[in-house]
Amino acid sequence: MLQANRNILYSCPFIPAPWIEAYGFCAERIEPSLHYNQPCTPRQGMCAHARLFLNHCCRLDPAAVIFSSTCDQMRRAFDLFSFYSKVPSFLFNVPATWQNLTAQKLYRLELLRLGRFMQSIGGIEPSISALAGAFGTDNQVILGSRTCDTSSKLVAVIGEHRLAQSSDLFNLIEQLGGRVVLDALGTSGCTSPAKIEMRSFYKDPLEEITSAYFGTIPSIFRRPNIMFYSWLRNAFVQNRPHGLLIQNFTWCDIWKAEIDVIKKQINIPVLEITIADTNEYLQPSIINRIEAFMETLK
Ligand code: SF4
Repeated sequence: MLQANRNILYSCPFIPAPWIEAYGFCAERIEPSLHYNQPCTPRQGMCAHARLFLNHCCRLDPAAVIFSSTCDQMRRAFDLFSFYSKVPSFLFNVPATWQNLTAQKLYRLELLRLGRFMQSIGGIEPSISALAGAFGTDNQVILGSRTCDTSSKLVAVIGEHRLAQSSDLFNLIEQLGGRVVLDALGTSGCTSPAKIEMRSFYKDPLEEITSAYFGTIPSIFRRPNIMFYSWLRNAFVQNRPHGLLIQNFTWCDIWKAEIDVIKKQINIPVLEITIADTNEYLQPSIINRIEAFMETLK
């Protein structure tokens, strides 16, 4: 059946937007808004981001929504969305392990399965030149690095997801005399793919896409997640922040488990803020903690 709305919503960085665009859809990576925080899905035990993403998708009328298996919470969000919504949905299995050929092959097969799913909702299988056109024009941002100003307190901000309200956090840091030298929330920094090499692409598109996305994105969920720590060390050498602010979400065990490891890897003050799915992004208690943290930075 042909869908009138051509937007396909997703959140996971391992879903290549040009792959969706090549099938004739518009790929829309959602940065959920707290303003869509309607209680249309169960609240108990859900991570704030998974729930906000779910609520955001429920408020729109897309052609489809793609979830990924990178954490239990998003798998659960997929189950709930499939149950509550008539909008077609797809669960993309991203293997946590990545150093063996079987995992890479599975990722390739998932791309093909996603392609068949899009064809089932009116997408058209692209020719290799259409695919190359989509990937060749993709603006891939590799690192969310900002201009360095040595007179300020330099802050790095990292986290898995960006919300529609995330600029409030950057504004607050700047109001408190800080300068964000590393913005690695969501779409930038540690979730960016490598640049597609078109010469390799024409030889084997799936191999090149797998290499650029599955082989490169240093997400913290990967096992082992050595690429994440390598990315973090390089980003710190490059940007020399005085303090690190980690934006986490309630019930996110993946990041929670890594925070002590991150602290051991770097030798600067670290502040973790935990975002809940309330109407307020930066609650007064969080603002107080950020103010105290900024005072400690030299
Ligand atoms: S915040 Fe953590 S638990 Fe929630 S969706 Fe993201 S990775 Fe999964």
